[in-house]
Amino acid sequence: MTTLRLNHQQHAFLQAVVDRDSELADIGELVRAAVRDAPAPSPLAFSPSTDPPARTVVEERILQPGTGKAFEVVAGRVVRIAQIEGHQCVDMNVFALGDRRERLHVGRTRGMQGLHPGPGDVLWSNAPWERPIIAIVGGTATTDTQFPFCSRLIYSAFFGVHDRTNCQEIQNEAQREYGLDLWDLHESLNLFMHTGTGPDGEAVIRSNRARPGDYIEFVALLDLLVVPNVCGDDLSNCSNYGLRPVRVTVEEGLPEDADRARAARDRAVVLGLPTPYEGRGALPLKRDRSYVAAFPHLPLRAADVEVEIDEARFARARNTDLYPGDDAAALRDITLSSAIERLGAFAGNE
Ligand SMILES: [Zn+2]
Repeated sequence: MTTLRLNHQQHAFLQAVVDRDSELADIGELVRAAVRDAPAPSPLAFSPSTDPPARTVVEERILQPGTGKAFEVVAGRVVRIAQIEGHQCVDMNVFALGDRRERLHVGRTRGMQGLHPGPGDVLWSNAPWERPIIAIVGGTATTDTQFPFCSRLIYSAFFGVHDRTNCQEIQNEAQREYGLDLWDLHESLNLFMHTGTGPDGEAVIRSNRARPGDYIEFVALLDLLVVPNVCGDDLSNCSNYGLRPVRVTVEEGLPEDADRARAARDRAVVLGLPTPYEGRGALPLKRDRSYVAAFPHLPLRAADVEVEIDEARFARARNTDLYPGDDAAALRDITLSSAIERLGAFAGNE
């Protein structure tokens, strides 16, 4: 017997797929069909990893699956978001500490820096400010500006499941520490999310390439509230069908960080910025000292399934580049991607 390792959300989704399909008696049958029909994986190439520079740590936290955290990052400091186990997409919101109305504008950033901002790029704020607020100074991670955060809508509309971890509610709960409302949520910058273009020019999500230790580093260009969250999506290749912890570190910036931030800003601004907005009645963000985090849909419970599979077929189908030494993750990928394809067929027929 082989163990298909699932959390209770994934188990509920697979059971719902089985319930809709008269040809499947149980999840075990779905797994066997998925392994039988899985195509041989394409080889993946990875670029070499590098370590971040050593700096003085101001704050460090591990964000657990289903959670996020608001970090104050004053101008000149570095915030680094890093993989622990790999595979994990992280959504990020950014607000100006001095005025809650100024925040990251992902659309403007996409227009100014392209679909995948990386080291040497800046992130832009919304109008009327429209200025670089944070610079990417280093890292080994991909980013995406095309897909909005996963929300309650996405899981209901495309997966037929409700009341489960999602970035919308995780961000809302993290941002509540600073009095931000449900509608203050803005389009996320998606870290470690590997996206590309499909055959008709459409944006597509590809398997997550992040490995243990991969990271991305930002330098704040003004005093900011940076709010990363572990993406709540465990039903797609966005985070390779899993929810895993990530590490967030705030550090004192080095002189070379300031140099890189300045160079990124100068490169982005090109011929100059408009006259700065003279804000009236700024609304600074303040931490609510009585805040106690209460993230919904937790705890995630293990809901493993013991299955009999064809080991030879599994050995051919498993993706050894993506999941070296982790058969459970490979089997979960094969099973959940097949289940989603089945669901797509049903949705198309109805
Ligand atoms: Zn998400």
